[in-house]
Amino acid sequence: MADGAKYAVFRCGSYDRIELEERLDVLLESCGGMGRFVSSGERVLLKPNLLSASAPERCITTHPELVRAVAVRVIEAGGKPFIGDSPGLDGFGSVAEKTGMAAVARELGIPCAELDEPAPLPMAEGSVFRRVEVSKRALEADKIINLPKLKTHAQMFLTLSVKNLFGTVVRQKKASWHYTVGLDRDTFADLHIDIAGSLSPALTIMDGITGMEGRGPGNGKPRHFGLLAASTDALALDLHLCQMLGADLKSFPLYRAAARRGLVREAEKIAGDFPPGFVFQGVDIPRLDSLHLLSFLPEGFARRHLSSRPVQMPEACIGCRKCVEVCPAGAMTMEKNNKVTIDYEKCIRCYCCQEVCPADAIHFSKGFLLKLLEALGR
Ligand code: SF4
Ligand code: SF4
Repeated sequence: MADGAKYAVFRCGSYDRIELEERLDVLLESCGGMGRFVSSGERVLLKPNLLSASAPERCITTHPELVRAVAVRVIEAGGKPFIGDSPGLDGFGSVAEKTGMAAVARELGIPCAELDEPAPLPMAEGSVFRRVEVSKRALEADKIINLPKLKTHAQMFLTLSVKNLFGTVVRQKKASWHYTVGLDRDTFADLHIDIAGSLSPALTIMDGITGMEGRGPGNGKPRHFGLLAASTDALALDLHLCQMLGADLKSFPLYRAAARRGLVREAEKIAGDFPPGFVFQGVDIPRLDSLHLLSFLPEGFARRHLSSRPVQMPEACIGCRKCVEVCPAGAMTMEKNNKVTIDYEKCIRCYCCQEVCPADAIHFSKGFLLKLLEALGR
């Protein structure tokens, strides 16, 4: 894997330890082996997707068997792995326990810690954003191995390798980014590209064995893809996976931002056992609103009428208040009988409430202009 714009994609049928380790070794071998990415004595951050305190079977988070297998290979290469992420809302202790990360850390005797304490990220040349803070722990690692989960995403279409590194932003700062740039998906994708490019992970290994389709990243349905993929170029891998999922590249904000910035390169598959041009059939990909199509409209008007708005379902709600706490606009109020009222004048349509709701009690209702555009076939 001499050039960054290369990737390897292999089949892996399950999280059975023997099968997964065998397939991971084939994948790593095709990339030059773990020793190519990790040197003796290096502190290596393993960055899984730990969105919430969810059991591995829900397919919201990176599977612990993959994290374990990668950690073992980092140790064998002489590195010192540690597991870290900054979950959206749930306490890190319960996230680590529920997702199986704490058990992996205990078994292997490695640290598992929240990515907290913000520090300025030295921005890569060509970044759109000048000042971004991520966790000091991520910056202090000698190497980062990015371990995303393959999922759909109601706001950003898909959440793959590049978006996973937004998880190095500490939780309090995430809300503020959602508030300031979250409405404009293409600008949000610019931020994700800047963070991924500046952190420059040594390697990305995608957990696509069982991912998520539909109302991801937290309330979709598990979907078995049977896929393990790796690349030193997170962006190239994401654009390839988007096509493998049968999704329209131009609908992917990450692709649009990368294309606008001249970052889309012809990527080459170096190894794998999927046939050339393989596409998964019938993947349920969320349809994004068309805010960018009518950018000449006043922002507030577009927000109210062109984007889908969140609607809470009291009958499904378990009263956990997570949506109220995560809402970066302070637009949600918990009333009696598990009813949450939403101030749509304040709501910025960031969909964080839907992302964190453990009961799938936040749905979307389309604005009238969006319905009209869709009826007209746009
Ligand atoms: S109500 Fe939901 S979509 Fe609206 S700003 Fe709050 S978290 Fe975001
Ligand atoms: S709507 Fe969801 S996140 Fe909000 S209080 Fe109810 S269950 Fe919790």
